[in-house]
Amino acid sequence: MPVSEFDWINQYFREPFAWSNSADLGSALGIGDDAAIVSSGNDQSWVVATDTLNQGIHFTADMSAEVLAYKALAVNLSDLAAMGASPSYFFCALSLPDWPKARLEVWLADFSKSLLKTANTYDIRLMGGDTCKSVSGLSVTMTVMGCLPVQQVGLRRSSAQVGDRIYVSGELGWAGLGLQVQRGQLLLAEQDAKKALQALYYPKPQVALGQTLLGTAHAAIDLSDGLQGDLTHICEESKVSAVIDLDALPLPALTTSSAALLSKKALLGYGLTAGEDYQLCFTIAEDKIGWLEEIPNEFAVTCIGQIEDCTEPCIRYCGSDSVLMSKHEHGKFSSFQHF
Ligand code: ADP
Ligand code: MG
Repeated sequence: MPVSEFDWINQYFREPFAWSNSADLGSALGIGDDAAIVSSGNDQSWVVATDTLNQGIHFTADMSAEVLAYKALAVNLSDLAAMGASPSYFFCALSLPDWPKARLEVWLADFSKSLLKTANTYDIRLMGGDTCKSVSGLSVTMTVMGCLPVQQVGLRRSSAQVGDRIYVSGELGWAGLGLQVQRGQLLLAEQDAKKALQALYYPKPQVALGQTLLGTAHAAIDLSDGLQGDLTHICEESKVSAVIDLDALPLPALTTSSAALLSKKALLGYGLTAGEDYQLCFTIAEDKIGWLEEIPNEFAVTCIGQIEDCTEPCIRYCGSDSVLMSKHEHGKFSSFQHF
């Protein structure tokens, strides 16, 4: 398998800075999860995450300032959601292209308005940042801080237990469909195209779901890079395997005319590997699944599989649709990678 950004993170940061993960951290948590957890010394811990969106990598030059502000904050909030944390503060670092002043001012006004609206929606306050010039397009980096009650360890990737049921929220694959629609490579029926683009531009961070799961669910991760790759992170960190029932996967419910354009296998591909849905994947003990019936219906959680014991972490697929996957695709970990 080619070297990925995850290998680089391990080789150049996680291993050399091993003290960031050592036992001296006590209940704190360093590199390797959706966010870090830092003790504040009183009854709360800080949960901190940072994520960058770069022009040409995460978005194209035509993306509006309004969408960019929303999405940059939303994807960071999603990492807080994946820990079960409640949002508190954020920082915003901008690298702006060499545009004329008037254009920059229009862009900044739109960006600021959208950022404020999003921050108010999720009750998170801007506390600082950085603004500088870039020679190679726009870049937005957000750093978010959230809170966990100090007695809570958070929804860690390393907490999955053998026998846990695996759940996801929402429908998986809409954002991937949106990207193809945006690129003009997929022509869906109008209402599906609208929904797909909405999912791509305005992913909804599952902050309320994360907080609801805290204390009951075991492991969680937000689906930024696709279920297959992101669930692999849970398996590797927890030293377990997973079996996924492909028939249970909540794939986009497309209108008949759009569905006719896509094979089941193609749709499964969107659901398993496309990424950017920012739904949550979590594991929960089998005897707690009754509790999930009492959480609000709007969280739309679906059981998709189970955690298994293993000698080497892997994902196995079952269900009638698993015949659609070649032997090679079973257990092949793929997710969106930047390099
Ligand atoms: P996510 O997709 O949840 O944002 P990433 O895949 O970006 O997570 O990162 C995985 C883990 O590696 C996180 O804990 C992150 O903080 C850490 N990480 C990524 N890049 C670096 C870096 N340059 N230095 C230190 N830690 C890093
Ligand atoms: Mg994440």
